[in-house]
Amino acid sequence: MTLISDSLQAMQANILQASNHANRTGLVKLLAVSKSQSADQLRAAYLAGQTAFGENYVQEAIVKQSELADCKIEWHFIGPIQSNKAQLIAQHFDWVQSVDRLKIAQRLSKARGEAALPPLNICIQINSSNEFTKSGTQAEELHALAKEVIALPHIKLRGLMAIPAPTNNIEKQHDQFRIVKASLTQLQQSDDLATLELDTLSIGMSGDYVAAIEEGATIVRIGSALFGARQKPSKA
Ligand SMILES: *Cc1c(COP(=O)(O)O)cnc(C)c1O
Repeated sequence: MTLISDSLQAMQANILQASNHANRTGLVKLLAVSKSQSADQLRAAYLAGQTAFGENYVQEAIVKQSELADCKIEWHFIGPIQSNKAQLIAQHFDWVQSVDRLKIAQRLSKARGEAALPPLNICIQINSSNEFTKSGTQAEELHALAKEVIALPHIKLRGLMAIPAPTNNIEKQHDQFRIVKASLTQLQQSDDLATLELDTLSIGMSGDYVAAIEEGATIVRIGSALFGARQKPSKA
């Protein structure tokens, strides 16, 4: 068995190497995707220096968060959002990367305000390869959604997240990530969004993070390459 501290160290070295190879200067944040991992496994990763964790299922995350209440962890929600879970998510996470429609953004903002918490960092999830996932807003709708989202008082739009179709074809990986990056650039250059700090491009998972970093990822979301293959997915 590989120790989590070894996996983390190896991953950080790989991320640095990919960043250098792409002449990137900014930091690429490693988000440890910890769905289906136990609180003990998260604690081991935390003790090895990992502070940002991504979870897909609200109930599962809340249980772990209470077991890890003594740790200074930055929690990211990265799973599909049912509107009746938006309130819980707003209250238990620092970031929500999977916002794909206005109704969810409105509920997150409202709940965040009611809980008197600082603005929630969010990314809009875009659907970059239509067939693969139903989640994510379409590129054509992105600008209109972004405009409505930034008008909400208790959330802070930080950028885009995408989950392109998994492929071993490196060229395809680059093509898919380039589309997402282009969407972010378009937002950043929109006159009517110009005051925003859209600094986040969350692309890249265990199988394609190198290509993602080369295409400009600022967050990579890594699960199995850190923790090993997952057991069957848990339920929300
Ligand atoms: C599970 C998951 C990941 C991590 O996937 P790995 O292939 O295990 O690295 C990243 N992002 C999202 C949205 C996920 O659901």
